Amino acid sequence: MNKFYDVIVVGGGNAALCSAISASDNGAKKVLLIDKASKKDTGGNSRYTTGSIRFSYKGFSDLKKLISNLSKKNIDFGSYPTSAYLADMQRVTNGKTDPVLSKLLVNNSFETVLWMKKKGLKFTPIYSRQSYKINGKIKFWGGLTAEVEGEGPELINSLTRIAKKQKIEIRYGCAAKKIIYEDNLVKGVEVLANNKINNIYSRSLILACGGFEANPEMRTRYLGAGWEMAKVRGTKHNTGDGLKMAMDIGAVPYGNWSGCHAVFHDMNGPEFSDLKISNRYRKISYAFGIIINANGERFVDEGEDFRNYTYAKFGKEVIKQPQQFAWQIFDKKVKKLLYKEYQAPNVTKVTAKTLPELVKKLKGVNSEQALKTIEDFNNSVNEQVKFNPTIKDTKNTEGLSIPKSNWANKIDTPPFEAYGVTCGITFTFGGLRINPKGQVLDNTMNPIPGLFAAGEIVGGIFYFNYPGGSGLMSGAVFGKIAGKNAARIN
Ligand SMILES: Cc1cc2nc3c(=O)[nH]c(=O)nc-3n(C[C@H](O)[C@H](O)[C@H](O)COP(=O)(O)OP(=O)(O)OC[C@H]3O[C@@H](n4cnc5c(N)ncnc54)[C@H](O)[C@@H]3O)c2cc1C
Repeated sequence: MNKFYDVIVVGGGNAALCSAISASDNGAKKVLLIDKASKKDTGGNSRYTTGSIRFSYKGFSDLKKLISNLSKKNIDFGSYPTSAYLADMQRVTNGKTDPVLSKLLVNNSFETVLWMKKKGLKFTPIYSRQSYKINGKIKFWGGLTAEVEGEGPELINSLTRIAKKQKIEIRYGCAAKKIIYEDNLVKGVEVLANNKINNIYSRSLILACGGFEANPEMRTRYLGAGWEMAKVRGTKHNTGDGLKMAMDIGAVPYGNWSGCHAVFHDMNGPEFSDLKISNRYRKISYAFGIIINANGERFVDEGEDFRNYTYAKFGKEVIKQPQQFAWQIFDKKVKKLLYKEYQAPNVTKVTAKTLPELVKKLKGVNSEQALKTIEDFNNSVNEQVKFNPTIKDTKNTEGLSIPKSNWANKIDTPPFEAYGVTCGITFTFGGLRINPKGQVLDNTMNPIPGLFAAGEIVGGIFYFNYPGGSGLMSGAVFGKIAGKNAARIN
């Protein structure tokens, strides 16, 4: 077994695989990738994704470069210029996103997906979640247009195949424990595999081993009280190891350490997810109904924006509610608009023919107040505007202390349905500080020689919220950059 490499990459998800492939592309001959997870569980959160990836494109001709058999007959793919992507990054992060890193992410996004395609990945338009049919024509919305064919599992399988083809060595069940750091230089990593501690040496080390979302102690410490209660939507392996190891040798923390991506998730879901059930527990069609807490009150503007721009931040609102749960309520009119996971087996759901009957079935809820909330909501709906789910239709409520700004339909057509939800954490936003070369900075803002980072472990890019599909894009862009620069150290 080799003990010396040009580049070692810690992690087995999208960012790690892109880093390793890029290092190999750029001349690193001996590249090792280690994943704490077993071969069966490898792939991190990346494997749990639907493979949706957000990149800028000028229009159909750009998309055609990515998806060869694409046709525009009766389809309006629109465009997503870099200016729109940057504006989305600015808007959803309240202007906090690091200007240099977010520009790098956006400006390199198209070139990086093309690189992934050239390497062997296949992409396909996201017809089911990102387009609507209007007057016989399919129209894409929200800037997020393509996903990896075969979703997260195929993303990981394809990248792994490519890595193996490029002779990158992969060790599963091999956990990084400590960075070997001597004379102000990173020299490799101490690992635990098969119950044995070993040192593996390298000229450079890339940390791509995720955030701390699967660590209840760190969640509570950094995200706040109540967060130990959240359910984990992805891998159980992202326990903040890379963050701790790097900070132990002086890496500076950066970004939104009290922030994370979290969504409404079935209140009876398991502690951690597994691949078969992950997205089945997600409940993100709330824009077409209302959400009430245990007190029987609404607590967010369900129609504030398109689902893409609110789902990542609304999940955490439920942690702040009494007993950390809520119910999403819909009527028959909108049932056809709900994502298919609402119909999955074992969802926490109640139905009723009348609203008084429905509120009595909402476990743990003040039913009297819940009924009043629904009635007040119904009485406040602006009937002058026509409901249109394909645009921000401005069909709003009037006079409520918490408004609903779009898609405010009366809840008046039986049968009524309610879905019990809590918070499912996806990934954390706080991380390490990197420079545009992907080098990890220390607390004097200088690079730690030999140390790079990519993916979820990087801080400063997402604050409060994130535009859906930019997690994978960030891992690919910064993985490609880190791999290239880590290879050049040699
Ligand atoms: C259910 C779900 C759906 C999602 N859908 C999307 C989507 O469609 N589009 C999108 O852009 N984003 C999506 N995301 C977010 C996305 O998954 C992440 O932003 C992205 O995958 C992060 O990639 P990564 O490579 O940095 O981390 P990960 O893919 O999580 O990989 C981290 C890796 O590090 C390994 N590891 C951890 N600790 C150690 C250690 N000590 N030693 C060795 N290895 C270690 C883990 O085992 C894992 O292999 C989704 C997330 C979830 C959970």
